[in-house]
Amino acid sequence: MNASSFQPPVRTLMGPGPADLHPRVLAALSRPTVGHLDPVFGGMMDELKDLLRYAFRTDNRLTMPVSAPGSAGMETCFVNLVEPGDKVVVCINGVFGGRMRENVIRAGGEPICIEDPWGRAVDPGKLEDTLKAHPDAKIVAFVQAETSTGASSDTRTLAEIARRYGCLTIVDAVTALAGSPLLVDDWGIDAVYSGSQKCLSCTPGLAPVSFSERALAKVTARATPVRSWFLDLNLVLGYWGGGTPGQTKRSYHHTAPVNALYALHESLVMLAEEGIEQSWARHQAHHLALRAGLEAMGLELVVPEAERLPQLNAVSIPAGIDDATVRARLLNEYNLEIGAGLGALAGKVWRIGLMGWSCRRENIVLCIGALGSVLNDLGAGVDTGAALQAAQGALPQARM
Ligand SMILES: *Cc1c(COP(=O)(O)O)cnc(C)c1O
Repeated sequence: MNASSFQPPVRTLMGPGPADLHPRVLAALSRPTVGHLDPVFGGMMDELKDLLRYAFRTDNRLTMPVSAPGSAGMETCFVNLVEPGDKVVVCINGVFGGRMRENVIRAGGEPICIEDPWGRAVDPGKLEDTLKAHPDAKIVAFVQAETSTGASSDTRTLAEIARRYGCLTIVDAVTALAGSPLLVDDWGIDAVYSGSQKCLSCTPGLAPVSFSERALAKVTARATPVRSWFLDLNLVLGYWGGGTPGQTKRSYHHTAPVNALYALHESLVMLAEEGIEQSWARHQAHHLALRAGLEAMGLELVVPEAERLPQLNAVSIPAGIDDATVRARLLNEYNLEIGAGLGALAGKVWRIGLMGWSCRRENIVLCIGALGSVLNDLGAGVDTGAALQAAQGALPQARM
């Protein structure tokens, strides 16, 4: 065996996640590891929960990071809330809605699926019609920010409809959190999960979740045990606290990823310093500049304007241009990563992410300049100078 230290290149990450890590977050990772039951660590965990409540705009006592990626946040919600035989309405408008359906089935529930076209928001009218037709449905699940297409669904309206029909809501906010407005308490969301590596700009591998009292009551009143030992909130809560009011004692459940949690804490401190509303505004302002540059190159965004996410921009690949060639050249020549299309959109679109620390002015200029140069080189005949001018003209006046 003749291995040496792994030295990754310094890339600019403008795909569907992970996003760039701020140097402060990288520095937090390298702080000394303490025991996961050390009282000092317990204090940090409590602060981390408060910071997550700030980010989610909630007072839910059950708010914590699951020690695994966003997909495990998804499983945590479904495996705890869905009991065998429960009817769950799942709104599908991309890859991640499809995964919700899989989760319902594996938890023993019965999915009732509503399909919307890829690249469009979930249609609230269809949800209402479906709930009228299935008065025994218990849960409504949907993705706020569908990362596979760049479509943004109206969580406030969908959650309001679900509540009117007596259903709990499960909301995927993996890409939404910190990038688009998300008001868990004001909008009456019951269970929400996110991921650390998207607009929070932390290392991949952690899944913040938050459960309302109504959702928690369903979990604790289950007739059958949760089908996952690791993700069973009845057990996890003994470790993270928050299961019972005033609980302070923490007992061993699993070994928390200590240093990764330092990093999440640091990224949330940075979010609180910036202000959550300012973070939403920064994502929107940079999205408008990116859009101006892309449109000046003659490229088209897939999602209609009113349903577009700022943090994930799906762009149609021009005719005659090879998807993989462009992405490989951006990576090799500019150290720039953009995302490929997924599922039905594979080979048809690029997904350009503006998430967290990746969402800053120098990246807009790099992305438009590099993409314009590569496309030109491949004979697409775009005016890179005009595109850069359009993007720069649309950038916010001051650094955000
Ligand atoms: C990235 C993502 C996930 C999965 O998160 P992982 O950390 O990759 O497991 C789930 N839902 C959406 C909308 C995502 O963008």
